[in-house]
Amino acid sequence: MARLVMKFGGTSVADLDRIRNVARHVKREVDAGHDVAVVVSAMAGVTNQLVAWCKDAAALHDAREYDAVVATGEEVTAGLLAIVLEGMDVNARSWQGWQLPILTDNAHGAARILDINGAELLRRFKEMSQVAVIAGFQGLNKESGRITTLGRGGSDTSAVAVAAAIQAERCDIYTDVDAVYTADPRVVPKARRLAKVAFEEMLELASLGAKVMQVRSVELGMVHNVRIFVRSSFEKPEDVDSRAPPSGTLICDESEIMEQQVVTGIAFSKDEAQISIRRVQDKPGVAAAIFGPLADANINVDMIVQNVSADGLTTDLTFTVPSADYERARATIEKAKGAIGYDRLDGATDVAKISVIGIGMRSHAGVAAKAFKALAERNINIRAITTSEIKFSVLIDAAYAELAVRTLHSLYGLDKA
Ligand code: ADP
Ligand code: ASP
Ligand code: MG
Repeated sequence: MARLVMKFGGTSVADLDRIRNVARHVKREVDAGHDVAVVVSAMAGVTNQLVAWCKDAAALHDAREYDAVVATGEEVTAGLLAIVLEGMDVNARSWQGWQLPILTDNAHGAARILDINGAELLRRFKEMSQVAVIAGFQGLNKESGRITTLGRGGSDTSAVAVAAAIQAERCDIYTDVDAVYTADPRVVPKARRLAKVAFEEMLELASLGAKVMQVRSVELGMVHNVRIFVRSSFEKPEDVDSRAPPSGTLICDESEIMEQQVVTGIAFSKDEAQISIRRVQDKPGVAAAIFGPLADANINVDMIVQNVSADGLTTDLTFTVPSADYERARATIEKAKGAIGYDRLDGATDVAKISVIGIGMRSHAGVAAKAFKALAERNINIRAITTSEIKFSVLIDAAYAELAVRTLHSLYGLDKA
């Protein structure tokens, strides 16, 4: 008998039939003798609709009210799943974030979980064999007592945090793909399933665009050493053996992975924008004059490329920001023009960042050089490059994103046979 967390994403609970399917998965684990906490997302499309309503109501709205609105999606699913489970004679009770409570900081719209009280859940497991159905994505602002949400995709983080709080043996992330793949299987049909992926690699994959897991959920899993499996909710419940290890991908410590590939996976993101400052003065303090105001405006700068000046006087400097912050970043730099000193500002939003990730890169040279050559052969121009210990990223025209991902996927031998 084990203690399990089962998380189901939006597509897996998209309508009542799918919720019934989810309930059968839950019953399967309960019948196998496990204590189960379920974490659910909003039904597919619901959160997008709620976000759109907030924007329509007022382009600039209070983040506390945004949270009050968007947190409701998960509440509906939690209640419905509890009703369906009861109908199947499974003792179940729904929980909203404030009821457990799941305490968070005050960063409305992107709150961090501070603490979860798992004691009541454990008591109910023990005394009533009751399944907990928890609304994902939401928590309670520890300071003000208002509802918070954890950022898009945040139900993954709720699930891993609950798993840590009740010391679950496993946290199963049920989704609409049956594993973590070497690249998004919707873009790369030849992508391969990964049996295991190291926390650090999953962290890079997620933060560089693979939305299968929210970044913070992987961080939490790494810190609390939660065993996370990514698996399919579309597998027929009656075909699954609850005593066997799950068939999906285990996210685990790198020491558990015997045969480490040089490259594990490829991620891409089109949510990037490029800003180039032309003929900026080449003198000490200029980087501070540019990036200081951006930091003050809470804008995350990612890639930075600065040329060495040819004439000793001026140079060009290029950097990227999230596309959502593009206009704000431009305005910030224009406002600081006097302090910075430059000729012209150019920008582009039709860019994509392609990233290649693998722990094996630590001990292999020349991995990135191969990619530059392969992209050049396809006539794909690289606008910027960044590298770190276990990954490198290139910025290219968005139109070539899919081609570049598939090219690199083949190049590093990731295509399935
Ligand atoms: P859920 O609603 O269950 O949380 P998401 O849509 O958030 O599901 O995440 C699952 C999606 O992530 C998949 O449908 C897939 O298209 C996408 N994805 C991106 N990169 C990968 C990858 N490397 N492996 C698996 N899925 C990926
Ligand atoms: N429903 C929320 C979203 O769509 C949270 C989640 O699904 O994880 O972002
Ligand atoms: Mg998700």
